[in-house]
Amino acid sequence: MLNLQEIRNDFPILGREVYGHPLIYLDNGATTQKPRCVIDAMTDEYLNVNANVHRGIHYLSQQATDLHEAARETVRAFINARSTAEIIFTRGTTESINLVASSFGQAFLHDDDEVILTEMEHHSNIVPWQLLQARTRIKIKVCPITDEGRLDLEVLPTLFTKRTRLLCCTYVSNVLGTVNPISELIRQAHEHGVPVLVDAAQAAPHLLLDVQALDCDFLAFSGHKVYGPTGIGVLYGKQQWLDQMPPYMGGGEMIAKVSFEHTTFNELPYKFEAGTPDYIATTGLARALDYVKEIGFNAIQEHESALTNYAREQLSQIPGMRFFGPSDDAVISFLVGDIHHMDLGTLLDRLGVAVRTGHHCAEPLMRRLGIEGTVRASFALYNTFEEIDILIAAINRVRKMF
Ligand code: PMP
Repeated sequence: MLNLQEIRNDFPILGREVYGHPLIYLDNGATTQKPRCVIDAMTDEYLNVNANVHRGIHYLSQQATDLHEAARETVRAFINARSTAEIIFTRGTTESINLVASSFGQAFLHDDDEVILTEMEHHSNIVPWQLLQARTRIKIKVCPITDEGRLDLEVLPTLFTKRTRLLCCTYVSNVLGTVNPISELIRQAHEHGVPVLVDAAQAAPHLLLDVQALDCDFLAFSGHKVYGPTGIGVLYGKQQWLDQMPPYMGGGEMIAKVSFEHTTFNELPYKFEAGTPDYIATTGLARALDYVKEIGFNAIQEHESALTNYAREQLSQIPGMRFFGPSDDAVISFLVGDIHHMDLGTLLDRLGVAVRTGHHCAEPLMRRLGIEGTVRASFALYNTFEEIDILIAAINRVRKMF
């Protein structure tokens, strides 16, 4: 059981008001709020340690480097990677996927090779593959979803061919709340000799990730969705792939030796980390992951799943309620009668309730659902049942206006 009052006290922003109402923050799928310990860890580093990492022989630089590399070890342990060589710091899920598309693409994807995506992918797991397509004539195949908002597992096996080089799939849908049977998908892909990239942006805050148990080849997530700072994310890659992939960007840190005639590259993971890394954010990310671990995924899941079930139940009693997706996880997408999602979201905001509206960066999925957008309520470990009651009351108030 979570001590919710104690947890809420960890998040200073939850005490503020919006338009004279207490803030009800239900846009956690977009980004989570930050506990004081994360803010303090970053402030402390700026105040007392700040120096560029890896390059200096002086005290502060070494201390900053130690913090940065300790953060890498925290990430490694968090997802149970074999080695810190497999943990690449990026700006977020988007950059992690672009890195794979560009670098794995250059090494392993040639004309007429195929990549399988799914109909429920976020734009950041679609567009990088299209950008690659503009350079190499790869074929993008798409696994459809069922009317219930689950991957069509009867179609998926038919998409593998001799030319399939990668399966890219989200673990949890940011729109439908579907938790995909990712272990099974990875097993199937591997049977065809196909590696798998997992978009874990929506999984990292809610589910225990174990890259060795999953046996995924790549996994991407963002710090800011798991109570950490913005501007930092992770790409996990199996060393056997990363070793064979060319660098993504060129610059400082990623080199071994440089001359105008010939440059050699640094070892993993630095080969993929050109330039000064956001070493303050890596400290914040590590503190956030420690915070989540201290609370524990069992307690988090128990609470979030109770919240999600309660919210679905209460929402379903509202006349004209239409749900999109199964909401296995802490995400509920819906529309109410003929009320436009933007109108509903805007009016809820006036009542202090922050939800997301729109296509949620998943336009192909919206097309499949035959809608323009939804209202999305997404929960975090600090949300309460009372907040859901306020959401319901607010929706009912808005309904009366229409
Ligand atoms: N994939 C999914 C499933 C997401 O929900 C998001 C963020 N909405 C992303 C990728 C992109 O994450 P970021 O913007 O942090 O790079």
